[in-house]
Amino acid sequence: MKVVLILLIPLFSIAQSSYYPETQKVYTYHANVNVTYILKLLDSSYYEFFKCNKSKVEYDFGNYRIYDKDEFYLESAYIKDRFNFLIYEDKLLINERGIYPSQLAKIRNKNELMKIAANSDYDKAYDFNYITDTICNELSEFRLGRTNPSINKAKELFIKQAMEISPDYADILKKYYCGPGYYTSYIGDQKIKWDNDLSETSLNKLSGTVLHESVHGFNRLEYDTVSRQWLHWFCIGPGKNIKVKYYKYYHSRHFYPIIPKIVKDSVFRYQTYVGIKAKTMGSNVRGILGLMNEYTAYMNDARISLDLFNKAYKKNDTINSKVFLHAVSDVYSAYYQFNLFIAYYLKYGKEKVKKSYEAAFENKNLRIAYTVATKEFKSIVDEFYAIIEAQPELKDRYVAYRLSEINVEKEYLEKEKSILEEFKVTDLTPEIYVRNVDVAKSK
Ligand SMILES: [Zn+2]
Repeated sequence: MKVVLILLIPLFSIAQSSYYPETQKVYTYHANVNVTYILKLLDSSYYEFFKCNKSKVEYDFGNYRIYDKDEFYLESAYIKDRFNFLIYEDKLLINERGIYPSQLAKIRNKNELMKIAANSDYDKAYDFNYITDTICNELSEFRLGRTNPSINKAKELFIKQAMEISPDYADILKKYYCGPGYYTSYIGDQKIKWDNDLSETSLNKLSGTVLHESVHGFNRLEYDTVSRQWLHWFCIGPGKNIKVKYYKYYHSRHFYPIIPKIVKDSVFRYQTYVGIKAKTMGSNVRGILGLMNEYTAYMNDARISLDLFNKAYKKNDTINSKVFLHAVSDVYSAYYQFNLFIAYYLKYGKEKVKKSYEAAFENKNLRIAYTVATKEFKSIVDEFYAIIEAQPELKDRYVAYRLSEINVEKEYLEKEKSILEEFKVTDLTPEIYVRNVDVAKSK
C-alpha cells in the first residue's frame, strides 16, 4: 500500500512572466464578475486555458487546430479534467476578433463565446488569479482553525524529538509546523483523515514527513527591501539555509516531451510532482524552484529519519530502528527521482528555453543550493546503503521492496549525469560558502 502525502504548497504573490511558450493570441470570456476564462494560443499549436474564480485557478492545456481558415478545435491533454467550456461545442469558428458558435455570429460579430484581448494584460505567471489579482495561496486557508488538542500534543512531541537531532530542525517545526491534521494523506485516491493516534510508534512513522512538510513552510519567498527583489529560502541541511534569487523559470511539465516513456510509467513520483496531472503542484508550476523545494524537503526528511534510526539503533531499540529505517527507505529514492527531474528540466531548457536556462545558470545561489543539497542527500543515500550492507538483517522485505523500485531511475540518471555536473558549482570555497549559505540566521 503506497501512501502519498500531498501538501498544498503555498504559491506566493508575485507576478512573473514566463519565457516558454510564447503566447500568440489571447481570448477571454468574463462569465460574470467572479469568473473569467482565458484562452492562450501559443507557439507550436499549444493552447493553455485558465478559469479563474475567487478561490482558485483551474488549468487545462493541449493542442489546437484550425481547419479551413476558421474552424477551431481544442484537444485537451486531459481526459478527465478538461474544461467543458468550448471543448464540447460542436463547431467553433475563430477570427482576429473572437471565437464564435456559428457562421452567422461570426459574420455579425455578435454572440461571441470569447473575445480577443491584449496579450500584455494576461502575461502573468501560470498560477496568477486575474479575479483576485494574486497568486493562489491555498495553504493559508488550510492552516486556519486547528484546535484539536491531539494536533498540538503531536506538535510538542515532534519538536522535542527534533531538538535531539538538530536545534535548527526544531526551530523549523516551531515556526512552520505542518504535522498530522494539517496535510492531506491519500491511500490510492482515497483521502484519509488523521486518526489522532498519539502512540510513540505511530508518531515516529511520521517524523520525517512532518519535517518534510514543515520545510515547505520554511522554503518561502520573501521580498528583500534592500536589494528590492524576491528571494526564495531553501533549507539545504540542518542549520544550512540559503536565499535564492527568484528568476524567470518555466513550468516543469513542459519537459514532458523529452522524457522517455519508461520514466513516465515507472518513476512513481513522476505523476505526483511533474506529470501533466500535477497541475497545481509547486514542483510543476514553479519550475526548478519548485523542484528544489521538493528535493530539499525530501533530503531533510531522509536526514532526520536516518539520524533517528542511528539513535534508536544505538539504544538497541529494535522496534523504532525498524520504523525509522523504513521511513528512510520510503524517501531515499527521491534523490534519484528529483535529480532526474532537475536534469530533464535543465536539458529541456538548454535546448529550447535558452534564456531561462541561462538565467538559472547565472543564479549562483540556486546552483550552490543544488550543489550543497545534493552532496548532503548523496551522503544520506550512501549511509543508508552502507547500513544495510553492514547489517543484512535490517534489509527486511519492506526495505528490499523499496530498494527494487528505483532501477529505472538509476539507469536514466546515469545518462543525464553530465548536465547536472555542469550545473553544480565547482568553486565553493569556504569564503563563498560562509557568505552565501546563511548558517546562523535561519529564523
Ligand atoms: Zn513535499
